Amino acid sequence: MKQKIAVYPGSFDPITFGHLDILMRGLELFDKIIIAVASNIEKNALFSVGERMELIGLAIDHDERVIIDTFGGLLVDYVKKVDARCVLRGLRAMSDFEYEFQMASMNRNLNKEMDTIFMMTSKDYFFLSSRTIKEVASFGGCVRDLVPPAVEKRLKEKFPLK
Ligand code: ADP
Repeated sequence: MKQKIAVYPGSFDPITFGHLDILMRGLELFDKIIIAVASNIEKNALFSVGERMELIGLAIDHDERVIIDTFGGLLVDYVKKVDARCVLRGLRAMSDFEYEFQMASMNRNLNKEMDTIFMMTSKDYFFLSSRTIKEVASFGGCVRDLVPPAVEKRLKEKFPLK
């Protein structure tokens, strides 16, 4: 039987427990998930693509059902290249919906065979985004309950307290 593969694309700058929650729940539905780190935000990112991939790897700790990769350009092209049909995305709030709805519709327009599967955020993480994590960490706030230990450590190195 053909394996059910999903592509989980995003910036992951850096990975948080919100991302990991969607990944773990996604693994209940798919045989394999390819985490695809977007390289086209490199200029505005805090972490390089290499660092983001490394931090994801440390958070997952060798699960052969998970592949960590990077992609640039159109997501539909990448999905086709890895022979997948589904894209996995998380939804936090109404504000996510508008953008996600547009992206999923556009992608489906570009490739009729591709579908986007949305999972609702867990109640513990609905307020959590990489952007807020970076903001809190930059002011020396504690993010221990929200990101894996390696991410917390790396954030402290990026934002040393003066
Ligand atoms: P992007 O920069 O493309 O929005 P992100 O790295 O922010 O990508 O997120 C990748 C995916 O993970 C998105 O679908 C996003 O909605 C989801 N996600 C991020 N944080 C959470 C969270 N706290 N709960 C659920 N889904 C989340």
